[in-house]
Amino acid sequence: MSDIRIKRITTDLLDIPIKRPHQFSTEKVSTKSFVLIQVELSNGVVGIGEGTTPGIWWNGESVETMRLVIDRYAAPLLLEENAVYIEKLMQKLNRQIRANHFAKATVEMALFDALGKTYDVPVHQLLGGLHLEKIPVRWALASGTPEGDIEEAISHVDAGRYANFKTKSGKESPDDDALRNIRIAEGIRGRSFIGIDPNGSWDKITVMKWMDAFFEAGIDFLEQPLPPEDIRGLAQLAAMKKVPIMADESLETVQDALRLAEEQAADIFSLKIHKSGGMMNTVRIAGIAQAAGISCFGGTSLESSIGTAACVHAYASIPNLDYGSELFGPDWLADDPVKNPLTIKDGSIIVPDGPGLGVELDDIKVDKYRRKEEKGVLTR
Ligand SMILES: [Mg+2]
Repeated sequence: MSDIRIKRITTDLLDIPIKRPHQFSTEKVSTKSFVLIQVELSNGVVGIGEGTTPGIWWNGESVETMRLVIDRYAAPLLLEENAVYIEKLMQKLNRQIRANHFAKATVEMALFDALGKTYDVPVHQLLGGLHLEKIPVRWALASGTPEGDIEEAISHVDAGRYANFKTKSGKESPDDDALRNIRIAEGIRGRSFIGIDPNGSWDKITVMKWMDAFFEAGIDFLEQPLPPEDIRGLAQLAAMKKVPIMADESLETVQDALRLAEEQAADIFSLKIHKSGGMMNTVRIAGIAQAAGISCFGGTSLESSIGTAACVHAYASIPNLDYGSELFGPDWLADDPVKNPLTIKDGSIIVPDGPGLGVELDDIKVDKYRRKEEKGVLTR
């Protein structure tokens, strides 16, 4: 067995501007923060990985917590270990660091990049091989008004850039949200479709009340309409057999996937490599979905080309990605910390075929966006 030791692990925080402010259910953002990890092996190869979250509201992790967990707890467990035992190393992290899935996925990403470069193969070949060479991408409409969203959707369709869309909800009351989404769906009828993502902010009675109207408006899916813990509620909505129900925040671990499948609480799984602790777990979750007849959707934590490449390698290696993806992160950011950003062409993202993740770090951009040291003082 090859003996390739992990010699050095470094982390940086990057703050990269986005093209336009993005309205989530809880906050509006104008930059996106990342933790960048670099793992150097004894053969001289350096693997890169990236951690990012939609925000600390999403599952409790932030780039700052990820950096702390990696520097203080994960790195000492990994240094001088043999990187080829990647599965064993991830199990070691799981035993000694509870949860912190985003941080673990960041570490796993850099290890896979380093091993791919070492063996001169793209990461998807280490995950089981390729099923797709490009993945359809949905754009997220978040302009703030239904008219703006309709206009944005139609201009993307006319330009041949994106074919289908997702909307963010949760800022208004559920009833107003429902009406707004129906207006958008009707405004683009015959041209395109939307899926709705209220990030768990709706309630079951409201969804039941609007379900027929959503169905008639041609809504593609309802993503995480109810709070993450309400598995029974999701199952009741799925049992209505109208608009397909997608689980996102309810689905993090492999065990969550099994429970959702057993309770028939989702028609679609939104996969995300960070929330599930890495690419290997994501492929495992897709396997549970396949066995249960559940479709998959390639979710995003709005990564740059580094994290998006990891998502693409994982999603392109599974056979049941029936709903495509939302891997528009590189197009949403105003800049990218790599020299060769991923390509989105005719509504699909192309799977990189270079060794490892297939993207090369741009040190000048890293310097430009590296966060300055902060002190623990809050002023206004
Ligand atoms: Mg979501």
